[in-house]
Amino acid sequence: MTGSLSNSALSGAGGVLTIDLNAITANYALLSGLAQPAACAAVVKADAYGLGTAPVARALSRAGCDRFFVALPAEATVLRAAVEDARIFVLGGFVPGSEDCFRETGAVPVLGSLDEIAAWATFCSAEKKRLPAVLHLDTGMNRLGLDAISLERVAADPDLLASFETLLIMTHLACSDTPDHALNAVQLERFKKSAARLPAAPLSAANSAGIFNGADYHFDLVRPGIALYGGNPIPANTNPLTPVIGLKAGILQVRDVGSGDSVGYGAAVTYDRPARIAILAAGYADGLFRNLGTGGPAPGYGARIGDHIAPVVGRVSMDLIAVDVTGIPDHLARRGELADLIWKDFGIDEMGCHAGTIGYEILTRLGTRYHRVYLDGETG
Ligand SMILES: *Cc1c(COP(=O)(O)O)cnc(C)c1O
Repeated sequence: MTGSLSNSALSGAGGVLTIDLNAITANYALLSGLAQPAACAAVVKADAYGLGTAPVARALSRAGCDRFFVALPAEATVLRAAVEDARIFVLGGFVPGSEDCFRETGAVPVLGSLDEIAAWATFCSAEKKRLPAVLHLDTGMNRLGLDAISLERVAADPDLLASFETLLIMTHLACSDTPDHALNAVQLERFKKSAARLPAAPLSAANSAGIFNGADYHFDLVRPGIALYGGNPIPANTNPLTPVIGLKAGILQVRDVGSGDSVGYGAAVTYDRPARIAILAAGYADGLFRNLGTGGPAPGYGARIGDHIAPVVGRVSMDLIAVDVTGIPDHLARRGELADLIWKDFGIDEMGCHAGTIGYEILTRLGTRYHRVYLDGETG
């Protein structure tokens, strides 16, 4: 609802980002149900996809999630402060210079090269502890993970793994969001064959989309990220997840423009009729991609004001956008009211289409300026 929630809800910010923690835990329940009997971890890298590591991880932990993946050791430090007892895996691995971080958090590195395996073995010997680690096998992504030659070396000399405990062997799918892509089955076969050459350990391959590619991809542990946050894992299908975020921006000013008037930088739009525009307090610094403005890849993005859609006019500025509110009743389109930028029927994936990107990038670029409201009691 737009309306007089506005001024107090904004607390001096330009807009409000609402994060429904109950929707996140409902999504977790759906995904873990689908994955059973495999266990279900949660990927909370990049500040839980921009939604806040601590509140998101605490909610998931209360919902029974006891395994989390982050990208970087520094993210493990933040996560450890929020959840005391969870298992934390670091996808970026034993990043050079991160000894203190691993020592302090007890996080588990995902090791993806011979050098990294050697470095972790050295660390474990120095600590005089047989610490846990995950082995990452590359099966076609060519990003991180042991390549075929490195795998041969490890398979031929299991002593390389003797100083630590291999908790999990994982791979990552390149095309799981396109279930018909031939590389999925290729990666699956390579993963099974490669893992069979190593000392037995639980296996993991599926991100969010991988969970929907069928039980063959589930193995012992699944690693959803985007689906927890309401993103559609398989764009060609309808989204089975519950939307998590709502985004509103305040109206700073409403103004009348006449025929011949242009709006915003570059005078990208010139009116040939009188119109009324509202200036909203959110811009590209708040994750509203410049592509959403005039000239973008999928024109027609608009903010919702009441039941009306107010199309973006002209370029997106750093802190502001203009929307056309001609014909929208004054009591809705007026200074101090809020306009919806993302809402239940227009989510991160739809926004991504209009911006020429994907829901993942929309989420992780929302920025830090919104007043955040966590539905489920937490604030932050
Ligand atoms: C980010 C990431 C995930 C989660 O991916 P989603 O598509 O967001 O579910 C899982 N595994 C690895 C290795 C990742 O990098």
